[in-house]
Amino acid sequence: MIPLDDAVAHVLAGCRALPPVRMPVSLEAVGCVLAADVVAREPVPPFANTAMDGYAIRAADVAAVPVTLPVVAEVAAGHPAPRPLRPGEAMRIFTGAPMPEGADAVVMVERTERRDGGTAVEIQLSVDPGNHVRAVGEDLHAGQRVFGAGDELTPARLGVLASLGIDEVEAHPRPRVGVMSTGDELVVGPDPLQPGQIRDSNRPALLALVARGGFDAVDLGRVPDDEAAIAAGLERGATTCDAVLTSGGVSMGDIDLVRVVLDRMGKMRWMQVAIRPAKPLAFGVIRTGDGRRRVPVFGLPGNPVSSLVSFELFARPGLRRLAGQPHPRLHRPRLTATADEALARRPDGKVHLVRVVATAGERGVLHVRSSGGQGSHQLAAMARANALAVVPDGDGVRLGGQVEVILLEEPPTQEWA
Ligand code: AMP
Ligand code: MG
Repeated sequence: MIPLDDAVAHVLAGCRALPPVRMPVSLEAVGCVLAADVVAREPVPPFANTAMDGYAIRAADVAAVPVTLPVVAEVAAGHPAPRPLRPGEAMRIFTGAPMPEGADAVVMVERTERRDGGTAVEIQLSVDPGNHVRAVGEDLHAGQRVFGAGDELTPARLGVLASLGIDEVEAHPRPRVGVMSTGDELVVGPDPLQPGQIRDSNRPALLALVARGGFDAVDLGRVPDDEAAIAAGLERGATTCDAVLTSGGVSMGDIDLVRVVLDRMGKMRWMQVAIRPAKPLAFGVIRTGDGRRRVPVFGLPGNPVSSLVSFELFARPGLRRLAGQPHPRLHRPRLTATADEALARRPDGKVHLVRVVATAGERGVLHVRSSGGQGSHQLAAMARANALAVVPDGDGVRLGGQVEVILLEEPPTQEWA
């Protein structure tokens, strides 16, 4: 058996960021990773404007209050003042409107009173120059490096790019990830099961994990334990995808067909990782028949819980590397939680990944309990879980003890409920 960290390192060494492309800054770009710096061509805000509804004035004119000033114009967002503001004047101004030339501050409407049938305004508050004024370039100045290679296009970053009028960036494409399940026993659909048959649950679950991970999921179907069928599925995957996930056929005692085909198509490593579940793992890079394309392949175990845990531990970080994510963002963070029940185990040389329900308690402290049966076939308990507790080799975690957890889904909260 090899340690978890060694297996992860081996997988990551076989995954390279996909070559960057020019991509439009559209909704499809969310989650993609920049491959080059982004530089602002213009300032944000593009002009000085008011942060408040009120009156644009000169601070010097309101040094002594109350003072009544004639209202000489109205300035709204998108409608600049018709002329400069002269000393001793005020202009009605609305949030986002450009500051009139000559004005240097805004007094909020709440500290004013219209006078003389609306032709004048009484200002009741003295303000400093710049009061409620958003200066040009206060957020970003022209020529500034805004984002760098490795930054992910989050919603707020897409907003910043839009605010700068940048409609194309250099970024890593979203990886296309094929998922193929193998096994003669697998059937798809609701028909009654024949003796020995089970339903293919790994493929839909893995495809969903791929999609949830921000990758393009490609369904490569179910293939029987048949050499030609497995080879055809892998060839199609290597031709049309940037990475392939297979489920089944990688355990020690398996009819070795997946193994035979993968070994023929590329350089594979067959690992026994010191973890439970998800001990068997195959990883390598395979070539298409014409030798033109090389793609990483993750041979995930067939046991339903194992295949999903393997995805989390190995495939997701590897795929994130293909997507161009830098090293600190490959893995989900490991947080510390309090065990609200004992997570008992026996020493066996393995790290156990216990399926748990995590909740965020008072002051944000995480608490975990087992989600149920921990067999690698017990997918229902995996489905109840929202986290994996990382229980090191030994006798487990006592009630009230601390344990590392990998959150798979956002935990429900008590505080905000
Ligand atoms: P294998 O890794 O092919 O030896 O399969 C290990 C166990 O997982 C067996 O009990 C299989 O029937 C089961 N299994 C394999 N593939 C799937 C799948 N796609 N969906 C559900 N169970 C599976
Ligand atoms: Mg099988």
